[in-house]
Amino acid sequence: MTKAQRPLGFPEYLHILQVPTPFPVGPVNLYLAEGDPPTLIDVGPRYAPAREVLEAALAAKGLRLADIGCFVLTHAHSDHYGQAGELAAASGAAVLTHPANFALMADYEVERERRLAFYRTLMGEAGTPQEEVLLVDRVRRQMGVFAVPVRPTGALKDGDTIRLGDEDWQVLHTPGHAGGLICLYQPQRHLLLSSDHLLRDISSNPIVEPPEQEGENRPRRLADYIDQLQRVAALPVAWAFPGHGPPIDDVPGLVARRLEFHRRRGEEILQTLESGPKTPYEISRMLFPRLDPVNRFLAISEVIGHLDILEAEGRVSSALEDGVRLWRRT
Ligand SMILES: [Zn+2]
Repeated sequence: MTKAQRPLGFPEYLHILQVPTPFPVGPVNLYLAEGDPPTLIDVGPRYAPAREVLEAALAAKGLRLADIGCFVLTHAHSDHYGQAGELAAASGAAVLTHPANFALMADYEVERERRLAFYRTLMGEAGTPQEEVLLVDRVRRQMGVFAVPVRPTGALKDGDTIRLGDEDWQVLHTPGHAGGLICLYQPQRHLLLSSDHLLRDISSNPIVEPPEQEGENRPRRLADYIDQLQRVAALPVAWAFPGHGPPIDDVPGLVARRLEFHRRRGEEILQTLESGPKTPYEISRMLFPRLDPVNRFLAISEVIGHLDILEAEGRVSSALEDGVRLWRRT
């Protein structure tokens, strides 16, 4: 990290390590806390350049992988936790994360199949042509190589504290971008490690997720995300250090811009229904006419998030007709 990026009040024991990912988002920020034990917050994807860069960055601090005593995993996306299984095997370190991440991290293959099936059904119901559904399914399968299973050894839940360096950090469970996402907050320094909950230059996409248990209702991730943005904006945060990109010095301002962006998008989506009932796929085509299938999936996910909120506000309703969900204004 350059001097300019290291704000006043950033603890001596904490270091930002940037490692490459094979994903469009670019490098991921890991946080190394020196101390007893040395702790690494997020580890990067299972990707040879990520491993090489991580080992070199640790060596520059006089550390080897085997010296790391604890891995904290902020959420179950492979750019953040993918190589944790291999690193934990090499170091024997503790692996801590929110319990909502346990199933996908530990039982990777089985849980991934359940998720793939959920997304195929969801996309079909959203009116997506079958060939696009299958193409996204294939890409998701290919992405599977960037993570291996890892068995968490302990839970970090909202309200827990974890020792980093010689200070206590509070665990905040902030579901939205991912259901099991945690941030870490240091209340004396007013520092937040925000993972992908808050990124300076990218609006984190709260992706539709399956219920944790079969038979439960699907979580309303965009609604969760907005609640958790407001929660973080109310904390006295001097600096937020995110999972990607530069630190954030105006959290309330950034949150206000994100909330305004989502409010406007919700209104745009409502307007598309003025000309009659539509599927989420059709709505996404009206908003974004040309997208490749993966970005089409992300757009449909975003539309569904807003429809969830508009439905809770009583402004839209839906009905399943011949296997496809049609939304209309109430
Ligand atoms: Zn990420």
